[in-house]
Formats: sequence, C-alpha cells, structure tokens
Amino acid sequence: MEHEKELGFNSLLIHGGMSADPLGSATVPIYQTSTFAFANVDEGARCFAGESDGYIYTRIGNPTIAALEKQIAILEKGFGAIATSSGMAAVSTIYMAFLKSGDHIVSTDAVYGPARGIMESYFRKFGVESTYLNTSDLDAVRRAIRPNTRMLYIETPTNPTMEISDLEACCAIAHEHGLVAVVDNTFSSPYLQRPIELGADVVFHSMTKFINGHADIVAGIIIAKTEELYLTIRPAMVGMGCNMDPHQAYMVLRGVKTLAIRVARAQENAIQVADYLERHPKVAWVKYPGLKSHPQYALAQKQMDGPGAMISFELKGGLGAGKVLMDNVRLAMLAVSLGGIETLIQHPASMTHSKMSRENREKAGISDGLVRFAVGIEDLQDIIADLDQALARI
Ligand SMILES: *Cc1c(COP(=O)(O)O)cnc(C)c1O
Repeated sequence: MEHEKELGFNSLLIHGGMSADPLGSATVPIYQTSTFAFANVDEGARCFAGESDGYIYTRIGNPTIAALEKQIAILEKGFGAIATSSGMAAVSTIYMAFLKSGDHIVSTDAVYGPARGIMESYFRKFGVESTYLNTSDLDAVRRAIRPNTRMLYIETPTNPTMEISDLEACCAIAHEHGLVAVVDNTFSSPYLQRPIELGADVVFHSMTKFINGHADIVAGIIIAKTEELYLTIRPAMVGMGCNMDPHQAYMVLRGVKTLAIRVARAQENAIQVADYLERHPKVAWVKYPGLKSHPQYALAQKQMDGPGAMISFELKGGLGAGKVLMDNVRLAMLAVSLGGIETLIQHPASMTHSKMSRENREKAGISDGLVRFAVGIEDLQDIIADLDQALARI
C-alpha cells in the first residue's frame, strides 16, 4: 500500500500487511512450503548473495511470514520485524543477538518468568551477568548499570504485578550508557503502547496474547527501530531456527485485524471489573493501571493509550481464599496465558512464576495470594456474576 503512512491505526490493522495479490486474493495466501525453486543457477546465486528479493527457504524467509512482519513493523513504527515461533523464541533471539560472554543485563524483576529463567540458567552458563530490579525506580536502574552492561530489558506493565516503568526515562538512561533498550510490549499491544516512539531500540511481543488474541496459536515477533538493529537480529533468528511457520503467520494475520476492537472491548470490561473488585469487602487490594489507587496511575495515563485488560489482586483471606475463588469460577477458565477473547484466571506463585525462588518472588512483589485476572470480551454482567458467585463461597 503506497499511502499506508497516512492511514490510521484501525485501517493499518486491515490493510497494513497486504501487498497487491496477482490473483486478487482479499487475504494473504498461505505459502505452505519449505523451499522455493530458482529460475536458474544465476538467479539462485543472486538470492543467496542478497542481490534479489527472491525467497530461498522458509527458515530464512517466506511471503506469508513477511506480510505479518511488515504489518507489525508498521503498527510499532519500526524499520522492520522478525517473526519467531514463540514469544520465548523472540527473547532467546534478542539475548543471542546482543549479548556475549562477560556482558551484563539490567532487567525488570517481575518480568515474564521464563525470560528471567533462561537468563539465570543458560545465559549465566555462558558468562552473561544479570541484575533484576524494580525498573519503575529510575535511581535503582542508574545504580545497577556497570561498565560491562550491554542491555536494559524492560517489561511494562509487569507480569503479574502491573508495575509501570517510565519508558521514555528508561530508554534515555540506556542511551546515556550506550545500552540497547529492549521492551516487552506484550501486555499492552501496539494499540495501547508504542515503545519505539518513547525511545526503545527493540520491541517484542508474545503474539500468543493480544496480537493473535484467540488462544489458538503460540507466536512471537521482534521489531527493530533501525536497519542496523534489524540486520543484527535477523541472522540470529535464522541461525538458531527460531522462525515462524507460514500457517502460524496466516493465523496471526487473521487475528491481528480485530486487535483494536478486541482490546478496546476487553479494556472496557476490565475497567468495570477492577472497580467491582476494589469495592468488594473480601478483596484486600487491586492493582490495575486504570485505578486511581495504582502507584503509577499518572505515568500510565501519560505513556499508554489505555490501562489494558490485565488485573492483579489479592483477597483478604490470602492464598486460601484465592484458591476457593479460582476453584469455583465457571465462566473464567483457570489457565495461564492472557490477551485472548476469553477471561482467564491464574495463580502466579504456583503456576507462571513457580520456577522463581520464593525470595525473588517476594522481592518482585509477587505474594503467595496474588491472583492474576485476564479479562476477555464476554458480557460484563456475566464476568462479574461469575466472580460474585465464586467470592460468595469464601
Ligand atoms: C507469554 C509471554 C511471553 C512468552 O511468550 P510465548 O509466546 O509463551 O513464548 C513473554 N512475555 C510476556 C509478557 C508474556 O506474557
């Protein structure tokens, strides 16, 4: 599309990844192939030399995957994107592309569990050092930077504590020290937050969550702000074989079209659910960026276009009461993941963050009684009635 720079976000969701199809297909076709035939030996040589745009092999590139990469790069305002088999394949690729033995990374403590897990196991084994801290504390971020620090890796809002880090300030600190600023934008999606506009160099998503949005695919993507960054990341993905499959790309291309209306609807529900929970006599606290009681409410208003659809809370009865709630919901599914059309509830201390030591969980604010609630697009009255009947059993 020649005029895509002039289109609004909703129009880009529908038209951003499309190139004119020779047969007029309204959707991007699935090129379910592992390899591509060359017209002749010279053309094959040109493809390998990078002198032709022709496709070679699907691990390296594929037209269906390329359409999705183009789409997401446009939405996140980056130079280009690199699709991966999962969100964790995106994390691994980013670490591998930028870190070497002897380097140090500063990262958010309440980060997606396995992103910290692989750093503290595999990457430590290769001599990469790491410091995990609350990145909403800018002084702590500054103090943690060492001469060998190479990367500042921010997740905001955090999973599952819903802390907000100031992206503009964090990226500025990173650049003062020559670090690459990486942001996990999974919880917001580009509909609510675009970190490259705030200074990030590299943004990534677990597209398993809001971008695909239908709980039927695991997928990831990395968006690079510049061509140089893109050319640093892409070979790491190709070399390690972290590529997406064409059918997976097709599914995400289909899901992303409704990103705006899905997130807007889930968020509308979440605002009401957070308010309901905050007023409920059995609830001890609620953490949701759309509540005035949230410690970084003003910052959330400034850097996000909305508070999103993720809520964390704890009941006055702690873990015991939380278990009764989670065992008795009927509409909400007791399941990990988020960002889909359906409402999910889960217990981070025994599920998503169970591999983290109890000490590190407590430092990161993940109490044993914390319940994570991912609000879906069902009718609000049904979500609230479900919580109501389950809370009544405590
Ligand atoms: C799910 C998730 C990931 C990992 O993505 P997968 O697609 O499950 O590999 C990374 N970061 C966040 C914030 C997530 O929610």
